[in-house]
Amino acid sequence: MNNKQLEFDESFRSWVIALRRWFHRYPEPSFEERKTQQKVTEELNGLGIENRPAGGTGVIATIYGGSDGKTIALRTDMDALRVQEAKTALNRDYWSNNDGVMHACGHDGHMAMVLGAARWLQEHRDSLAGHVRLVFQPAEEVPPGGAGAMIEAGCLEGVNAIIGVHIFGNMQLGRIGFRPGPFMASSRTFAVTIKGKPGHHMCPQDNVDPIAVVARFIDTIQGDIRQRLNPNVRYVLGFGEVHSGMQHNQTPAEARVVGTFRAYDVRDSEIIVSAIEANLEGLMRAFAKSDIPGLPEYVLDAEPAYPPLVNDLAFTRRAAEVLKAHFSDVDDDMEPNLGAEDFASYLQQVPGLFMFLGGGNPERGITAMNHSDRFDMDEDALPTGIKALLTLTCDFLKNPEPYLRK
Ligand SMILES: [Zn+2]
Ligand SMILES: [Zn+2]
Repeated sequence: MNNKQLEFDESFRSWVIALRRWFHRYPEPSFEERKTQQKVTEELNGLGIENRPAGGTGVIATIYGGSDGKTIALRTDMDALRVQEAKTALNRDYWSNNDGVMHACGHDGHMAMVLGAARWLQEHRDSLAGHVRLVFQPAEEVPPGGAGAMIEAGCLEGVNAIIGVHIFGNMQLGRIGFRPGPFMASSRTFAVTIKGKPGHHMCPQDNVDPIAVVARFIDTIQGDIRQRLNPNVRYVLGFGEVHSGMQHNQTPAEARVVGTFRAYDVRDSEIIVSAIEANLEGLMRAFAKSDIPGLPEYVLDAEPAYPPLVNDLAFTRRAAEVLKAHFSDVDDDMEPNLGAEDFASYLQQVPGLFMFLGGGNPERGITAMNHSDRFDMDEDALPTGIKALLTLTCDFLKNPEPYLRK
């Protein structure tokens, strides 16, 4: 491949943009990407690329090169968010047709980029030594995520490495960013339910107040975690929901607090869980009354997490060299990020790289962060993303050794 071959003509660019806009118009929430799956299948069939449905609403496809070699996978997510889109003059050409659902995380652009790369690779397949797997994965946004089901369906069979790209609306158009090693966090949802003894406010000595217990938990848990974690460890714990009570002058029977915590190492997540347990055990003793046995009582649910996302060191080092040779704005030492991504599950199985792509453009008023109701992307990011995917794919197939060095 030389870089000249990677200049896309106008009809290619407008085909890619039309695809992104189609996906944007018909967003579907996690695990419900049926129309999206059908559209992806139609496009792949149109390009003559072998494919099959997988993982519920996902698709696995393979492009076979002209001669044998390694296999590299390109992954895109497919789901939208339950967000009501802010309809503005900027996005009027592709307003969401599904009320309350919006491609607010750029997965519409990710699908268009992988299909764009697929079209180029299919047209140039005779010159490829090796094969390219395409992974269209549903349900990135909602744990347990769609990656597990795709892996079970065989999307990584015969695959030697994998790459993925994520667009960000608050990152400068055209910039490519990543880092070797831990790049994104492990995120876990927790829910604490406290059972107390309900009663009239006039006789607190006869009641056990679950609201007081939850308030004390919220006030003390951060300090307790800090007592157990190495001070160099970065983590964040946030509260997302607090529920209790129906009546202004009654101590309620129950209170509940829900949130997430994030860290870069699963062992640190386990330490956070044990700090939550120890805090709650202490609160049960602190709020106990000798004449009210067994209360307060707590139930802790900590759902299984997305693992931390760890970019392979050798793969990332070689990718950084190659991308810097072809692109002007590459940051291979980005700050780690406390967001979570189930692309992490693929990286636990095969080496690879997850990179961020700038889609923001303040001059055109495109600055909103992902998950905002005003999120959008400058569509000029799409050819850049396709070029990055193709540059790495072609270089890997031609010379895989430096990417796979132990
Ligand atoms: Zn998202
Ligand atoms: Zn996303």
